[in-house]
Amino acid sequence: MPRNVTSAGESRLALVRRARRMTRILAETYPDAHCELDFTNPLELAVATILSAQCTDKRVNLVTPTLFAKYRTAADYAGADRAELEEIIKSTGFFRAKANSIIGMAQGLCDRYGGEVPGTLKDLVTLPGIGRKTANVVLGNAFDVPGITVDTHFGRLARRFGWTEETDPVKVEHIVGDLIPKNEWTMLSHYMIWHGRRLCHARKPACGVCPLAALCPSFGEGPTDPAQAAKLVRPGPFS
Ligand code: SF4
Repeated sequence: MPRNVTSAGESRLALVRRARRMTRILAETYPDAHCELDFTNPLELAVATILSAQCTDKRVNLVTPTLFAKYRTAADYAGADRAELEEIIKSTGFFRAKANSIIGMAQGLCDRYGGEVPGTLKDLVTLPGIGRKTANVVLGNAFDVPGITVDTHFGRLARRFGWTEETDPVKVEHIVGDLIPKNEWTMLSHYMIWHGRRLCHARKPACGVCPLAALCPSFGEGPTDPAQAAKLVRPGPFS
């Protein structure tokens, strides 16, 4: 497959154009991209996102029906019996820390926000257990406020794409935010995560069948032979 781009020496304008073309190709490739965590309101999404740390969305989605049926409000979580809560979320790993985060967040919601999840980054990140990444997931998917979610997939792909060399998630968020229009941030986050999960894997990206190959300076980091690359594609869904 032809490789007709390098990131070295690329002008700012060329980078912006290339980043936007790549985003359009990702949008065409993953028209169904969405948050793979199941939720029906901002509180459920905040809890599911806390549980998704170091855990697959699929595993979280197995646990949350029981959890959400038992705890319906922030006050329910704030007053939860810790042992009972831990038992329900145990299979998602790091369950003690996650129980701490959920109970702490819920207490913060009850103490300062009338039990409701606030819809701004500034307020969300003041809550225990809610970092910038979780806050952006909640804003983008439960409040329709554009947010860039820099998880491990997003960061890796942004670097492979030659959009940035930064490894700090907050810096990556700001740099990519300057390349892509704000109204596309939330969907871009989904596209990146979907592409990272399905095709542009950490160890062996499936470059030989990648729709971004002609625009990606990292083409060749994985097998370029289409037949070999095709075997690496994971079709999903992951939820
Ligand atoms: S799979 Fe290969 S060509 Fe495609 S985005 Fe990843 S590194 Fe670039």
